[in-house]
Amino acid sequence: MSSAVQCNNCGAMMTPQWDGRVYQCPFCKTQTQVAIGADQIAAGMAIDLANVDAFLAKLAGALQQGFAERARIRAEGAYVLAIEIDLDHDRFIVEREGQAAVARHKKMVRGIALRTKTLALDVWFSQLTTALATHANSNARAAWVLGQLGHPQR
Ligand SMILES: [Zn+2]
Repeated sequence: MSSAVQCNNCGAMMTPQWDGRVYQCPFCKTQTQVAIGADQIAAGMAIDLANVDAFLAKLAGALQQGFAERARIRAEGAYVLAIEIDLDHDRFIVEREGQAAVARHKKMVRGIALRTKTLALDVWFSQLTTALATHANSNARAAWVLGQLGHPQR
């Protein structure tokens, strides 16, 4: 992430706010969010981990809005069977198995899985949102992703 952020309204250099996520222009007071947190992604998705059907459907919807090029979703109509999120070095997979969802994380090096871990859904989801935040921030897409997740009903 660059530490110099230019105001897209007047072109002045913006100054970072206390949390480093938001920059403000000292002249026209325009604010830009330059970084997103895992907590914000999780809040935007409003996921219910206890309900497998709702979890898979909501996660698929949020990924299609904020991370479409990174997510592969296998579904029969609205019934989501599996979701795979490819973030280069991290691959997150969740698959329906009967009434449960099995969540896995693969550590990837040059397209080969070094190791695969099966994780509890809450642990998996927390690792996923952290990786998605890092991905959005390193691609200067924080504001865009926030906007997408902020309007999940669209
Ligand atoms: Zn400005």
